[in-house]
Amino acid sequence: MRFETKAIHAGLEIGNPSKAIIPPISPTTIYEIDADGRKDGDLHYTRLGNPNRLQFEHLIAELEDGETAAAFSSGIAAASAVLQSLDPGDHIIIPEDVYAGNRKMVKQIMNRWGLKSDFINMTTLENIEAHLKPETKLIWIETPSNPLMRITDITGVAKLAGSHSIKTIVDNTWPTPVNQLPIQLGADLVLHSTSKYFGGHSDILGGAVVARKNDVFFERLQLIQKMGGAVPSPQDCWMLSRSTRTLSYRMKGHNDHAALVAEFLLNHPKVADVYYPGLASHPGHEIAKMQMKNYGGMVSFIVDGNQEESINIVGRSKLIKRATSLGGVESTWEHRQSSEGEGSVTPKNLIRISVGLEHPDDIIEDLEKALG
Ligand SMILES: *Cc1c(COP(=O)(O)O)cnc(C)c1O
Repeated sequence: MRFETKAIHAGLEIGNPSKAIIPPISPTTIYEIDADGRKDGDLHYTRLGNPNRLQFEHLIAELEDGETAAAFSSGIAAASAVLQSLDPGDHIIIPEDVYAGNRKMVKQIMNRWGLKSDFINMTTLENIEAHLKPETKLIWIETPSNPLMRITDITGVAKLAGSHSIKTIVDNTWPTPVNQLPIQLGADLVLHSTSKYFGGHSDILGGAVVARKNDVFFERLQLIQKMGGAVPSPQDCWMLSRSTRTLSYRMKGHNDHAALVAEFLLNHPKVADVYYPGLASHPGHEIAKMQMKNYGGMVSFIVDGNQEESINIVGRSKLIKRATSLGGVESTWEHRQSSEGEGSVTPKNLIRISVGLEHPDDIIEDLEKALG
């Protein structure tokens, strides 16, 4: 089956013995045990498993071409489960401009529990190779990165890592499997904040990890999902499966509109630089072209001015809402450095837009007025 078809049908296939086309939500926390005792594989308690979570996990694994998946109550819960699956003393390589929440989680929590980390520029394989240590167990990739839109060569890193028995994970939240399939490119694991494009309507918080193989590492991760307890509710899983059925078509709109916005900004006198991997002028464009089908709905740009002018521009929008996060059908934007806080490497005059599905002319007219 092709991607669009899987997105609609894969979540409907399992855990639904009724004849309803759309599976029901199962709010129950408990399941009746058979009269002759507990059996492996049966559902017992919703933290350990429930039909709606199994449906969503099956769906996202199918879409990312993985063997299996685990869903979490947020993207960062999924990310911390991955790191908790390592041992104290293990070392990871992670981008210096990684999603700010993950940076804080590693530095303020995981490092205290003995995880070693190097935050580096991951745009060249040479720099990654130079930071490998005997204890390196995981290379964390975020491409395009948030919000600098740096591009990392997934195939190159996966080969390098594989030759040292190091696992690779790709945070695929921004591109989504519509635009980029890391497991096909050689990665072992894929991370998602499903709060973004999978949810797609700014009303669900969630996360997921998809694994190439149902191996020992994934078993550890699943233990942390069940015994760490950061699981999504059946209601949220049901909502996510529903949203995912339109993911392909929402992404086509996000891709098209973001390309138009990037082109508009590139030609605007108040804009000093535009970060969008679809632009031929982007330093990572050639690698992006090889590993992405399209370039996603996020655009960052540098104002020809200071921090105050940048905040003022964001303050003047009418249609585009001032908000953090991304991936909703409505356009949002923010002065990114204000959201990231301490340790941020984001320039003080960078604005980040999540380009929505409104008519692109309305989005661009609003940008035009805000830029003045
Ligand atoms: C939002 C985001 C996360 C964290 O996800 P939450 O659902 O907010 O916990 C991780 N990575 C990226 C790239 C994100 O945009």
